[in-house]
Amino acid sequence: MKILVINAGSSSLKYQLIDIETETVLAKGLCERIGIEGSKLNHTPKGGDKVVIEKHMNDHSDAIKMVLDALVDKEYGVISDMSEISAVGHRVVHGGELFSKSVIINDELKDAVKECIPLAPLHNPANLIGIDACEKAMPGVPQVGVFDTAFHQTMPKEVYMYGLPYDLYTDYKIRRYGFHGTSHKYVSSKAAEILGKDIKDLKIITCHLGNGSSITAVENGKSVATSMGLTPLAGTVMGTRCGSIDPAIIKFIADQKGITLEEVDNILNKESGVYGISGVSSDFRDLDAAAKSGNERAQLALDMFVYSVRKYIGQYIVQMGGVDAIVFTAGVGENDGKMREAITKDLDFLGISIDTEKNKGIRGDEAIISTEDSKVKVLVVPTNEELMIARETAALLK
Ligand code: ADP
Repeated sequence: MKILVINAGSSSLKYQLIDIETETVLAKGLCERIGIEGSKLNHTPKGGDKVVIEKHMNDHSDAIKMVLDALVDKEYGVISDMSEISAVGHRVVHGGELFSKSVIINDELKDAVKECIPLAPLHNPANLIGIDACEKAMPGVPQVGVFDTAFHQTMPKEVYMYGLPYDLYTDYKIRRYGFHGTSHKYVSSKAAEILGKDIKDLKIITCHLGNGSSITAVENGKSVATSMGLTPLAGTVMGTRCGSIDPAIIKFIADQKGITLEEVDNILNKESGVYGISGVSSDFRDLDAAAKSGNERAQLALDMFVYSVRKYIGQYIVQMGGVDAIVFTAGVGENDGKMREAITKDLDFLGISIDTEKNKGIRGDEAIISTEDSKVKVLVVPTNEELMIARETAALLK
């Protein structure tokens, strides 16, 4: 069975065609600058070279058509007919409280995704456009929605509620939702598999550390806490996002600088985090280089990131009454051994010890990096949200 996985953004569309029996990626690619001058499709078939097709795409329907044409192309295609695609799995960012698992999309469910637009005004409309475009291009092929928020719907109420008037929850659904759910679910189950344990017997802390970062407590296979909130702005210090701050700061900045709330929001999302602190970059490789050459603010940004991640690890160990495994994933978590070492430093008293030599050599590979006698296992597990979406889609078809 072949599943097409779609991640539609406002002007881009990423895709992978996955053979679910062998879990292999048959082709993957990206449509860029949809609706903007200079649009192009980057398509890479399995075992082949990347092909770049420059052609104007008016909208996402044009993009999907180009993707399907590329997939069946005689030269660089990977299937002989579109009918080989059994279903399409769509990444949808926000499912609010309406979606606690993946669903086969129908008109009613599309309306439910629309209801969640105020919670993700940038992402959900783009995801819906992707769904519409696929329905049009591939009539009769089941479309499945896989939500970033769904995995976290198992959090207990005292964890997901904010200390705000209850009306704000009932009237506007203001609560913690959490994100990166597909990634946290994938890496936690993969970690259990690597350890040869049933996930139902494990307490796991998953650290998705990339441009956006979130930490999740996974107990018995279920998310019981996560660091992001109503929006992906909360939690750890991130690339350009501030993470959790004193909420009074927002009005204070607006008053002091004489700017609008929208402008403050822009500062918190795009000009803060390790970028804002360092004034150098949001990329951890640049920060590391700058810190090495004596840039104190770059070092401070890295130290603050480490501190904010450790804070959640500590919090979740207490919440779960222990931890069996800590998992690192995403750009920083998979590649940055120095960061993993700093985050797990001096935690031997909790039974967490990493093999520093082994850790140094791990870059983007699956590995156990804790010492033989470390009570808590520490792992690196490359995330694979597309595979998880394909698996969920295939499971729903059965
Ligand atoms: P996103 O949240 O955009 O999906 P990723 O998970 O791809 O982000 O992570 C991107 C980040 O990963 C980059 O900002 C970069 O700082 C970091 N990164 C990637 N490779 C390395 C590396 N070898 N060492 C340190 N950091 C890295």
